[in-house]
Amino acid sequence: MSEALLPQTLLASHEASPNPAALFDAQDVLRWANKAFCEAYKVQPDGHLTWSDMMRSNHASGQGAVIEADDIEAWLAATASRRGKLPHRAFEADLTDGRWIWMSETVLPDGWLMCLAIDITPLRQDSRSLRQAHAKALRASQTDALTGLANRRQGLQLLQQALAESEAWPLCVALLDLDHFKQINDSLGHAAGDQVLCDFARQMLASTRREDGCARIGGEEFLLILPAAALGQAGVIVERLLARVRQSRPLAEQPEFGYRCSAGLVEAQWGESSEVLLQRADAALYRAKAAGRDRIERDAG
Ligand code: GH3
Ligand code: MG
Ligand code: MG
Repeated sequence: MSEALLPQTLLASHEASPNPAALFDAQDVLRWANKAFCEAYKVQPDGHLTWSDMMRSNHASGQGAVIEADDIEAWLAATASRRGKLPHRAFEADLTDGRWIWMSETVLPDGWLMCLAIDITPLRQDSRSLRQAHAKALRASQTDALTGLANRRQGLQLLQQALAESEAWPLCVALLDLDHFKQINDSLGHAAGDQVLCDFARQMLASTRREDGCARIGGEEFLLILPAAALGQAGVIVERLLARVRQSRPLAEQPEFGYRCSAGLVEAQWGESSEVLLQRADAALYRAKAAGRDRIERDAG
């Protein structure tokens, strides 16, 4: 076979393979899938269908992926906070037809995501509950229980990984803190405060790119990791988040209630430790608070 035929042969081998294979673009639109993937997830790539749409339709129809959740939007938020954050990850997943698969996700240099699965149904059943319990415990240890975002430990670990990975540069980091949050708790109650925190997590996921890391690192303090973004592009993303927060009305019982947040945004310097980087972000956040809140202060380093 001539070398020129390799790409076609590779594609043809995936088309014919019984193992589900798919490509999502940087906006998480399904751009290509083989027959096995289309059958497993009951979808067709049409140039518009996103991964979230695919999971919503699987959840609604009870076909495709097994999604054990009553609230699909909360499930999507929690799952999106893990999807495409690392160069590579793999996990076990159930299909409603009774198969279970080992799914690997690889982030390609242009931000596309390659998904390849193999059928592991024939693996020994008896070790399955142990594997599932382990995966569940690991997820719980990395996840903030209230918002579904990465927790402090996982957020700091994602930051260490980004700092060590050359593809993540230029790298920006934002520290975000809700404004006058104590007043919200004091006047509306702790439960309303919790709803505001969950709303903020949703706005964060909706404003950022799939590859961005979103973590709750304190009571009402959040970390945003923005790989492959210089200060200008990162500023656009954080401005978008602040604008969404300004427009959000998260409390059904208080339809006119709104809230705000402040941000300290910094560009990482090569060789800088995560501690020094976070100190600079914290100092910028402090300046944003002192200058009147509801704004971003930047530090190019
Ligand atoms: P600033 O604009 O300067 O940030 O003012 P602030 O009131 O937001 O700052 P402060 O740090 O004084 O208040 C943070 C409050 O966040 C205090 C604490 O009671 C509340 N808080 C921390 N964790 C949680 C939580 O999990 N749920 C709720 N509802 N409140 C929390
Ligand atoms: Mg605070
Ligand atoms: Mg605050």
